[in-house]
Amino acid sequence: MQRTLVLCKPDAIHRRLVGAIVQRLENKGLRLVAAKLLHANRALAERHYAVHRGKPFYESLLNFITSGPTLAMVWEGREAVQVVRALLGPTDGVKAPPGTIRGDFSLSVQNNLVHASDSPETAEQEIALWFAPEELVAWEPCDERWTGATAG
Ligand code: UDP
Ligand code: MG
Repeated sequence: MQRTLVLCKPDAIHRRLVGAIVQRLENKGLRLVAAKLLHANRALAERHYAVHRGKPFYESLLNFITSGPTLAMVWEGREAVQVVRALLGPTDGVKAPPGTIRGDFSLSVQNNLVHASDSPETAEQEIALWFAPEELVAWEPCDERWTGATAG
């Protein structure tokens, strides 16, 4: 069973889109295993976006992500990493197709509402960065045999 880190970024909180975003992940059959609202500080943002250090948008990205509250979550399910990335759509809201979260709710490259891990390895690192192990709640959804969340 795979886990992935999902962040509703400050624009999602300000625009009151948390419910719509969470709804799509739940509808897909993924299960929520951790969630907390926090205001990320610069140190956390730098570690989270370390891969983008030095890029032209790096400083404004850090300013954005530290500008307000973020809802950090861990979601679990079969191939959860690729499934959530597909639900998000491409980075640029203009290029993201209708039906995806970014495609339906964003016109921006930076203010694209949601972050999701891009590989199982990244997911492991990002989950460890945002959550302590005891904050992850293991549980079995009662409809799991119908959603195919575990098996193929
Ligand atoms: N971003 C930006 N300008 C760019 C590209 C990306 O501000 O030209 C922001 C955007 O919020 C994006 C984040 O930086 O979600 C991380 O970029 P990445 O390429 O990893 O996109 P993602 O994995 O989030 O789709
Ligand atoms: Mg990325």
